[in-house]
Amino acid sequence: MIPANFDYHRPASVDEAVGLIEQYGDDGAILAGGHSLIPMMKLRFATPGHLIDLKALDELRGIEDTGADIRIGAMTTQAELRASAVAAEACPILAETVDVIADPQVRNMGTLGGNVANGDPGNDMPAVMMALGAIYVLRGPGGERETPANGFYKGIFDTERAANELLVAIRVPKPPAGHGYAYKKLKRKVGDYATAAAAVILALEGGACSHAAIALTNVGPTALNAGDAAKSLIGTSVDGEAQARAAELAMEICDPVSDMHGPVEYRRNMAGVMTYRAIAEALGRAKGG
Ligand SMILES: Cc1cc2nc3c(=O)[nH]c(=O)nc-3n(C[C@H](O)[C@H](O)[C@H](O)COP(=O)(O)OP(=O)(O)OC[C@H]3O[C@@H](n4cnc5c(N)ncnc54)[C@H](O)[C@@H]3O)c2cc1C
Repeated sequence: MIPANFDYHRPASVDEAVGLIEQYGDDGAILAGGHSLIPMMKLRFATPGHLIDLKALDELRGIEDTGADIRIGAMTTQAELRASAVAAEACPILAETVDVIADPQVRNMGTLGGNVANGDPGNDMPAVMMALGAIYVLRGPGGERETPANGFYKGIFDTERAANELLVAIRVPKPPAGHGYAYKKLKRKVGDYATAAAAVILALEGGACSHAAIALTNVGPTALNAGDAAKSLIGTSVDGEAQARAAELAMEICDPVSDMHGPVEYRRNMAGVMTYRAIAEALGRAKGG
């Protein structure tokens, strides 16, 4: 289908973009890579009267090591994130996740900012950002504020971002040195959204788990932080029993819908399987495997 008519704006600065967002309110939509928004417009699920395209805003691109964090500009494409040595060094789970998003064409256009701001529970990056304890940097007419990825997602396409705010960057605290990580995604075919997926970050000290975070994709109305599952690993050697217990706890918070990805019970179970596998892989990596 063809989208409804709209006016196109290409601001030359972030301040101008924020001004346009404020001016057009609910009738304006921010355009990043367009790979979620344009399909919604073609289906007429979204009919904005004004598109505010961020493409010209080079200040929203790039990946920087700031010491404790890496700071990723919202308009950094998924492909640029995949190619970044800074991201690979500090947070290798980012590249692992990009590799299972859609296909190269989508990753060349789709941005990290669009992926996390979209609010679609099928997007892969929100759960990873939750597991990493990432902070979203938003700019509105009153200036900048920061808000954690954990708590940002309120419902399907509903986030903490106010209508007059722009996501300008994502701050990712560096996980502990030598941490283990994994993003495990079950999908029906290459390029598909997740039937269920799990992100795991963990660290060991003296053979016991000293840090753990687990978050899930597409098994609820938002990405889900499996806090109790992660907590259950702390102090254990992350043996098979601990892995199975954490997977059970992760399944308990799932609330998937029955759709083309499968029935509710299957998807909940697959969330457990993905969690179990992600923990096992993260453990192997933390042990230097
Ligand atoms: C065939 C296909 C398969 C896909 N498969 C997957 C998949 O497996 N996993 C996955 O995670 N994604 C998948 N996607 C989605 C893809 O990753 C999108 O690129 C991503 O969801 C949105 O990024 P974007 O830059 O294209 O944003 P856009 O489509 O431009 O924007 C998405 C939404 O975020 C808002 N937005 C964008 N940038 C900002 C900002 N800086 N501040 C505030 N709001 C903003 C927009 O207004 C819009 O509401 C797929 C897309 C396609 C077309």
